[in-house]
Amino acid sequence: MPSLNTLNARYDILFEPIKIGPVTMKNRFYQVPHCNGLGYARPQSLAAMRGIKAEGGWGAVCTEEVEIHPSSEISPYIEGRLWDKSDIPAHQLMTSAVHEHGAIAGIELVHNGFHAPNRTSRLAPMAPSPMPVDAYDPVHARAMDLTDIKNFRKWYRQAALNAREAGYDIIYVYAGHCMTTLMHFMLERFNHRNDHYGGSLKNRVRLTREVISEVKEAVGDDCAIAFRFAVDELMGKHGMTSEGEAQEVVGLLAELPDLWDVNISGWSHDSSTARFEPIEGYQEKYTSFVKSLTTKPVVGVGRFTSPDAMVSQIKRGVLDLIGAARPSIADPFLPNKIAQGRIDEIRECIGCNICVSGDNLSVPIRCTQNPTMGEEWRRKWHPEKIAPRASDSSVLVVGAGPSGLEAALQLANRGYQVTLAEAEKDLGGRATKESQLPGLSSYARVRDYRVNLLSQMANVEIYKDSSLDRDAILDFGFPHVLLATGSHWRRDGTGRYHQYPIPGLDTMPSFTPDDIMNGENPTGHIVIFDDDHYYMGGVLAEKLINAGNKVTLVTPAAKVSAWSEYTLEQEKIQAKLINLGVELITNQAISHVTENKIELSCTYTGKTKSIQGDSLLLVTARHTNDTLFHQLESDPDRLNQAGIKTLEVIGDAYSPGSLASAVYYGHLAARCLEGESWDAALFEGERPGLIS
Ligand code: ADP
Ligand code: SF4
Repeated sequence: MPSLNTLNARYDILFEPIKIGPVTMKNRFYQVPHCNGLGYARPQSLAAMRGIKAEGGWGAVCTEEVEIHPSSEISPYIEGRLWDKSDIPAHQLMTSAVHEHGAIAGIELVHNGFHAPNRTSRLAPMAPSPMPVDAYDPVHARAMDLTDIKNFRKWYRQAALNAREAGYDIIYVYAGHCMTTLMHFMLERFNHRNDHYGGSLKNRVRLTREVISEVKEAVGDDCAIAFRFAVDELMGKHGMTSEGEAQEVVGLLAELPDLWDVNISGWSHDSSTARFEPIEGYQEKYTSFVKSLTTKPVVGVGRFTSPDAMVSQIKRGVLDLIGAARPSIADPFLPNKIAQGRIDEIRECIGCNICVSGDNLSVPIRCTQNPTMGEEWRRKWHPEKIAPRASDSSVLVVGAGPSGLEAALQLANRGYQVTLAEAEKDLGGRATKESQLPGLSSYARVRDYRVNLLSQMANVEIYKDSSLDRDAILDFGFPHVLLATGSHWRRDGTGRYHQYPIPGLDTMPSFTPDDIMNGENPTGHIVIFDDDHYYMGGVLAEKLINAGNKVTLVTPAAKVSAWSEYTLEQEKIQAKLINLGVELITNQAISHVTENKIELSCTYTGKTKSIQGDSLLLVTARHTNDTLFHQLESDPDRLNQAGIKTLEVIGDAYSPGSLASAVYYGHLAARCLEGESWDAALFEGERPGLIS
C-alpha cells in the first residue's frame, strides 16, 4: 500500500515504496550518479553533500562514477575511487550519511577503458581493440587480451564486494556516456575483435553479461544490481541508437539487472543545458522503449523539477523512478517540498551547467541556484537552515539582482527586517535582462524563486522604481546596508586581450551587451568582438542574426565561447552559430577601428587584415557599479552619524562574475551579517594523511 503522505493526492504516486531486487526505496525520487569535483579528494565534503540530499527526501542517493582500478583513472579529474579496501572508510562516510535519513545508497562502479589516459598510475590504458586514448595525450590503449579480460572481471567483482562492505545498497555496472570499457566493447566502431567478445552484438555484449552476472552472484543477495546504459549517442548509424542496437541490448539483458538506469550519450547530450534542451523530460523520446522490454524498474533523467511532469512519466509508463542529478543539486529538498505541498518553494534548476564546470575544472561543485552546494561540510551550510538574526537591527539591501535578492531572502530567513530597493521597474537585475536573450529564458528562475518567497514574507518590504543615492541611504539610517548594485559592460574594448582602449572606437557606432539588453537595435553588418568567452558573445550573435543582420564574431580565442567547454556547451554553440550563418573569425584581436573598417591582428603573428562593418559590439569585460559604495565609505563620520554600523558591497558590484558567484556573495553576506566569519571556513581543508 503506498504511503499516502502528500498534501496533494495526485502526487502520492511519487511517494510509493519501490522494490529494487533485494532492497526497497521509500519513494520514487532517485538521485542518479553525478560528478562533483569532490570525489576521492574530499570524502567528508562529499558525504555531507550526499547526506543533505537524503535529508531532503531523495529515496536513493548515488555516488559519482567510482573507478574500480588504477588502470582506469582519469586524473586530474576528481572522481570516486574504490581501488581496494583502503578506500572503504571514505565510502562509509557517504553511506552512513545517506542511511541516517532513511535513503538507500548506490555506487556507480566504472572502468573507463581508453577514456582513461592513466596520467597518474602510468599504466597502459585498455580497450577492446588498439587505439589512441580519447584525449590528445600521446598515449595509446592496448587491446585487452584474455588475461586482461579475466582481470577486469575479477576487479569488478572485488569492487562490488568492497562496495557492499562499505554499506552500499545498489551497485552499478556502468556502460554509459561512451566513457566505459563495457560500452566500448558494445560499440562496433571501437570493437574490432574476432574472438567471442567481438563481431555479433551478442558477442559484444558478452563482457557486460558476464560482469552483471558475476557481480550479482557476489553481492546480489544483499544489494540491488543496477545497469546504466546509454541507449542513444545521437550520432545516427555510427553509434548506439534507441531504434536500433539499443533495443537488442535491452532485449538481451532484460531481466538480468535489478534496475535499468537509462540515458543518452555523450555527457553534453545527457546533461544538456536549457539553452539546447529547454523542455523537461527531453530524454523521453530515446528512453521510453526500455520499459516495454523488461519487467525490472527503470530510472531515467530529464531535468525534472515539476511534480506533474514526474507523475506523467510514471503514469504513462515511461519511467518507474524519477532520476535527477541537477534538480537535486539545485534543490536537495525537492522531494520533501512536494510531500509537504510546498511546490512553489522548489528551487528549480536553470540548466546552466555551472555545476558541471566543477567536475571539468577539478574543483568542488557549485550551483547557480543553490549557493550551499559544495559548502555543506566546509562552511557547514544547510540549504534550508540558517542561523537566526543576532539582533533586532534592520537591513537595507540596494539592488534586486541575483545577489541582492539572495541576500534579502536569507536575511529575511534569519528574521531581520529587510528593505529591498531596486532602481528599475522590474526586479531581477541581470537575471531578468539575460533571460530575454535567445535560449536563456530559464535564467529568470533565479529571480522568480526568490521574488516569490520574498513577496510572501511579513518582514520584507520591496520598493521598485526606487533608485537610491548617497543622501537617501544616509537619511534612512538603516544600521546595516548591503549594496548589490551590479556591474556594466565596458565600452572601450579593454578586457583580457587588450589592456588599453581600442584606438578609433569613436569613429564607428559601437555597442555593449547592456545596450542590446536595454533595447538598442543596431542593423546592417555587426561585428562582435568577444573577449569574454562565456555565453554572452554567442547569444548576442544569435539574437542579432535572427533579427536579419549580417554578423561576424571575432575572438582572440581559438574557439567561440571557449569557457563554455566546461559547461558542455562549446561545441553546440559553435555549431549553432555556423549553422545560423554567423561568420566566425578566431585567433584575432582588434588593433584599431576607422569609420567602417576594423583592423584585426593575428594573436600569434601580429599580422593585420581589415574587415568591413557598420557597427561594433564589444563583449569584453565589466566594470563594478560601486560609485555609491565609495561615496558612502569615504565618509565614515557621516556613516556614524547616520547610524550605519556596517556597509558592504556584494555580488557583481564587488567583483563581476557568473550568476552563480553573484548569488553566492549574496548568500555569504547574509550569513556573515553579525554572524559567521567569511573566511574562517576556507581553512577547513581536507588534507590527505601522510600515510596512505
Ligand atoms: P548582481 O548580479 O550582483 O545581483 P545585477 O546587475 O544583476 O547585479 O543587479 C544589480 C541591480 O541593482 C540592478 O537591478 C540595478 O537596477 C540595481 N541598482 C543599481 N544601482 C542602484 C541604486 N542606486 N538604487 C537601487 N537599485 C540600484
Ligand atoms: Fe542546475 Fe545550473 Fe545548479 Fe547545475 S548549476 S544544478 S544546471 S542551476
